[in-house]
Formats: sequence, C-alpha cells, structure tokens
Amino acid sequence: MKVIATVKEMQAWADRIRRRGGRIALTPTMGYLHEGHLSLVREGQARSDYLVLSIFVNPTQFGPEEDLAAYPRAMERDCAMAEESGVDVVFAPTETELYGPDFQTFVSLERLPRHLCGRCRPVHFRGVATVVAKLFNIVKPHVVVFGEKDYQQLLVIRRMVADLNFDIEVVGAPTVREPDGLAKSSRNAYLAPDHRESALTLSRSLNIAQDMAAAGETDPQRIVAATQTLIEKAPHTRIDYVEIRDPHTLERVDVVEGSVLMALAVHVGKSRLIDNRILTPGG
Ligand code: AMP
Repeated sequence: MKVIATVKEMQAWADRIRRRGGRIALTPTMGYLHEGHLSLVREGQARSDYLVLSIFVNPTQFGPEEDLAAYPRAMERDCAMAEESGVDVVFAPTETELYGPDFQTFVSLERLPRHLCGRCRPVHFRGVATVVAKLFNIVKPHVVVFGEKDYQQLLVIRRMVADLNFDIEVVGAPTVREPDGLAKSSRNAYLAPDHRESALTLSRSLNIAQDMAAAGETDPQRIVAATQTLIEKAPHTRIDYVEIRDPHTLERVDVVEGSVLMALAVHVGKSRLIDNRILTPGG
C-alpha cells in the first residue's frame, strides 16, 4: 500500500492508472477509521481496480466553536487498518498541502445546506463540497463512495456532481451500526460509558418512529414529538434537531406518505451525533 502526501504525486499516480485503463474508486474520510469506513472501502473495491482512501480532517468544514482540534486522529492505526483491507493508496495531505496561503475558491450550494445540519453548522457543507471537489481533481476517481449515515452530505455531493458535471459515479452505502444499534462514528470515541447509553436513544427513537409510521401515523409532528420526548428523557442529551423531511429536497413534509427521511442531530455530552432513517409507512 502506498501512502501519498502530496497533490502532485497523487495526480501522477492517478494519471498512470488512467493511461493503463484502470478504474479508480475513492473513499474520502477524516480518519479514525471504523467498520463504517471499511464497508465503504469494500463497496469501492467491488466497483474498481484501485481503491484510494483519503484521510484529511478538513478545517473548512468546522465552525470556530466546533471540535476541529479535538477531532480524534490515529494515522498509524488507520494505515494498518487500510492495508489490512486491501486499500491501494492512502492519500493523507497536510493542511498546507491542500490549502495554500492564498486559498479563496469555495463550492457552495444554494438550497440543500439551508436545512438540517446546515442550519446548525453554517459553513459545514461549503467546506465539504470544496474539499470533495478538490479531492476529485487530485485523485481523479471514476467512482466515489459515501455513507448514508451522513445523508445530507450524500445529497450535497450528488447535487454537486450533477451540477458541475463531474464525470464520476456516486455510490451511497448503508449505515454500519454497533450490535445495539448505535451508528458507528469516529465521534463515539468521545462518549463516556454513561453517555453511550443515552446515545442509544438516537437509533431507538428512529425505530419507534418507523413503528409509528408503519402503524398508520401520518402526522410528522406527532412522530417528531414522540421522538423528542424519548431523547430528552435520557441524561446528557441536547437536541439540535429532529425532523421529518422530503428525502430528495430536504423540504418539510405535511404528511407522512411514501418514503420520508427522519433525521436527527443530538449532543450527548461532548459529542454531537447524527443519525437518520427512511420511514416507510407500509412497514
Ligand atoms: P467521516 O470520516 O466521519 O467524515 O466519514 C467518512 C465517510 O464514511 C462518509 O462518507 C461517512 O458517511 C461514512 N461513514 C461514517 N460513519 C459511517 C457508518 N457508521 N456507516 C457507513 N458509513 C459511514
């Protein structure tokens, strides 16, 4: 496995592979790898000849009050896990390598970031779209894999790829969970044991929401209220949002019919956790 830290070397590698007719898959991550990331790697490997895993804690997607400095990092362990998983290249640039001193070009979307996480994290999706566009120009992938765990991010990337005509296939992969339902996340590392119990209310409340929809509840407000009550009862929790939205536009829905997105963001202790589920009234 190669570990590449410079843009020039990464582009030269991608050019060599493309000249030979090789198909490149990219899985962008911020590192501190877990089974969720590795499932994206496997998905990418099944669709390509070479898998590139990028590891970069992207400063432009963090607000000034957020956890950039505290974000967990474990480069050596990540490289060992990547190698074990058959990753061909780890691309791990420094911040100065990716953002030069006079950096001033950003990619921002008009509507999708107005909702959900974009409301609580105003610069987040501009940072995500910008770094992902840069990675596309550096790694030159044919296919990229993102997790449905970050549902809004996946929509943002799909929209950007369509709007800017990137010749890249975007694949979404299902959320990998702990046996008790907690969605795997690098930020789970911040959870103290008693906070972890509270964190379980996220996936539990999504399951209850699905049960309500399956039992015929069509009022999104009633489902949201039941979910909020369950989460608020757990200690150390503070809700950012609990919403039922259109799964394509993220706009509000008045009635739960067909498939709708239920998405939530909750602070548990020092961790801000997100989770989501598509509710299907038929069960
Ligand atoms: P991150 O390192 O948290 O920025 O995540 C990198 C990629 O892994 C994103 O596409 C995430 O959606 C995806 N991811 C994170 N957690 C999970 C999970 N539990 N299951 C599947 N994919 C995930």
